[in-house]
Amino acid sequence: MAKQVVTRTYTASVRNHKQVSDDLDSLGFAASKLWNVGRWTISRVWDEIGYIPEHDELTAYLKSHKRYDDLHSQSSQRVLQELAEAFNGWYGKRRNGDTRANPPGYRKHGDDHPRSTVTFKNKGFKLDTKYNRVRLSKGSNLKEYWSDFILCEYETRPDVDLSTVENVQQVRGVWTGDEWELHFVCKVEIEVSDTPGEKTVGLDLGINNFAALAYEDGHAELYPLNCLKQDDYYFSKRIARCDDTDSEQATRLNQNKSARRTHYFHTLSKHIVQRCADEGVGTIVVGDLSGIREDEEHDEAKNWGKHGNLDLHSWAFDRFTDLLAYKAGMEGITVEQVSERDTSKLCSCCGRKRDTNRVERGLYACDECGTVANADVNGAENIRQKVSPSLATDGVDRSNGWLAQPSTFLFDKETGAFAPREQVTS
Ligand SMILES: [Zn+2]
Repeated sequence: MAKQVVTRTYTASVRNHKQVSDDLDSLGFAASKLWNVGRWTISRVWDEIGYIPEHDELTAYLKSHKRYDDLHSQSSQRVLQELAEAFNGWYGKRRNGDTRANPPGYRKHGDDHPRSTVTFKNKGFKLDTKYNRVRLSKGSNLKEYWSDFILCEYETRPDVDLSTVENVQQVRGVWTGDEWELHFVCKVEIEVSDTPGEKTVGLDLGINNFAALAYEDGHAELYPLNCLKQDDYYFSKRIARCDDTDSEQATRLNQNKSARRTHYFHTLSKHIVQRCADEGVGTIVVGDLSGIREDEEHDEAKNWGKHGNLDLHSWAFDRFTDLLAYKAGMEGITVEQVSERDTSKLCSCCGRKRDTNRVERGLYACDECGTVANADVNGAENIRQKVSPSLATDGVDRSNGWLAQPSTFLFDKETGAFAPREQVTS
């Protein structure tokens, strides 16, 4: 076992909610107002000079604005940073061809402001773990003569002890819809397993097979999207039957759909990490999808949004990769991202690049060396080879068709786990 310092967020309830909720409300409203001032400023700058300011420019510009002093300066800074991040996220989506993405909006419901999350950084809070209390700083505008901070009594889950963490970096006040809760962002020392081995595996993420894995020793695995497709079909039909897409029922269905997707991603990433640990894998090489879709816009295989009626956007792959990296890290396995460029066009056996990407019924066929491979596995193997050298020279027998006949794992609804296709009954 080795030790590693990681970031963890612990949630706590506020025990003296009644006493502090008005104060927290006013900070939450202030954060929304500042967000709107920033949002409006961005529009103005854009209209004037056709440029969207970065967060440090925005902060410099709005530092003297009177709304900036409603919150502690670090909290105000964080609001503007979130705004800039939201804009960056939007550019990313646009770059990846998501034309439905909207720029971040104003935080306003009619004349009301929602309660935005307020972040307190090191100068903005004082933690007393002995009495489970934390002081949260107000901005100079909201200070009153008797107090310039909010004193919250918090309660974490019983298994969390904030006095044992390395340090608490941030406290966030988060409105759940019913009440305020506190999130403590901490540095924590954890034990991680030693690396299971030195081997590499290539992982290709896609829309037919959500994941294709090519192991160093030659075998390959596929994880088709069967269950997500069924889920999507089921939920889309039920959502379509709702009279109003903004109705409570439609919202609940959408929440269910996304919760099930999250569950699927958690289960799959856990399963893959376990498989890698069993196989002695030390490095998972993942294709990085960002930035290549623009060039391959006409490439059917990369046309994400519409394919198979499955509404899977690039964020789903990013989210999955994050989960995978998190779980792999706990097992001492590294996740490395490499560009996916050309990985679907190259023959993983002889390295020949095809100009016309002849993929038929999911098979990649090479005229040069005669290899016939599952196209996703061929891609995964090419991704793996970007980090670890080719198999072609290390004596593995490639004539047995391993690339064409990967084992397939399906999500078994009865057990809630992934299992080889032969064993899945549901
Ligand atoms: Zn070839």
